[in-house]
Amino acid sequence: MKSPHFDYVKVTSLQQALTLLGEHGDDARILAGGQTLLATLNMRLSEPALLIDITGLQELRGIALRGGVLHIGALVTHAQIEHSALVAEHAPLLAAAAPHIAHRAIRNAGTWGGSIAFADPAAEWPCCLLALDGVVLVQGPQGQRRIAALDFFQDLYTTALLPNEVVVGAEVPVATANDGYAFDELARRHGDYAVAGLALSVRWNSVVASDVRIAFLGVGNTPVRARAAESALRGNAFSAAVVDVAVHALQADLDPLPDLTSNSATKRHLAGVLLRRLLAATQVTRSAIQA
Ligand SMILES: Cc1cc2nc3c(=O)[nH]c(=O)nc-3n(C[C@H](O)[C@H](O)[C@H](O)COP(=O)(O)OP(=O)(O)OC[C@H]3O[C@@H](n4cnc5c(N)ncnc54)[C@H](O)[C@@H]3O)c2cc1C
Repeated sequence: MKSPHFDYVKVTSLQQALTLLGEHGDDARILAGGQTLLATLNMRLSEPALLIDITGLQELRGIALRGGVLHIGALVTHAQIEHSALVAEHAPLLAAAAPHIAHRAIRNAGTWGGSIAFADPAAEWPCCLLALDGVVLVQGPQGQRRIAALDFFQDLYTTALLPNEVVVGAEVPVATANDGYAFDELARRHGDYAVAGLALSVRWNSVVASDVRIAFLGVGNTPVRARAAESALRGNAFSAAVVDVAVHALQADLDPLPDLTSNSATKRHLAGVLLRRLLAATQVTRSAIQA
């Protein structure tokens, strides 16, 4: 199918983008990598009167260390994150997750900010932001707001972003020598959106996990933190008995929505499989830290 008619402006400043958003409201859409938006236009799932192309805004590009956080600009592509030495060193969870996003051609064009703003519950970046306690930076007519990832992803494709705001980037805390991370997902074919996925972040104090963050994708309207499983693990070494309790706790944490490929019970089972797998992987990370 062909997209409906729309007007197009390639803006030369963030202020111009904000002004156009203010004038056109819900009739306007930001265009970043176009990997989702253009498909929805062609399928006529969305009929905006105006596309505001922000790809010329250099201030939304770049990956930089700023104090204790790694800042990633909204227009940084999935592939740039995948291949960034800064990301590999300071946010290894993102480096592990990046190759799971779609196919190379899509990773070359799709953006960090686009994925965060679109908030697909099966997308990798929102899930990683939850596991890392990241912060989303948005700019509106009144200035910049910093929104914790926990508060940003509110419902299916629904975020705390206001119609007159633009995602300008997001930050994650830099990894310390005591942190372990793991990411994996289960998809029918590589490059498909996953049936279920898991981002895991563990802070080790010797053999004990002093903090644990577990975030699932593909099992709810938003990425989901598994609080009961986290509690079962926090303050413990990951013995077989502790892992069993944590996996059992997912029954309380998750109420997965069925999708075209899997029912709720299958998704809950797959979530348990992923948790067991990644807890074992972070044990390996801990051993490497101690070596
Ligand atoms: C076949 C296929 C498979 C895919 N598989 C995956 C996958 O496995 N995992 C995954 O995570 N993604 C997947 N994607 C989506 C891809 O990652 C997109 O790149 C991403 O979701 C959107 O980024 P974009 O830059 O292309 O945004 P666009 O398509 O340009 O925009 C998407 C939406 O976000 C809004 N938006 C974009 N940037 C901003 C901003 N800075 N501020 C405010 N609003 C903004 C737009 O207005 C639009 O509503 C897939 C896409 C395709 C076509």
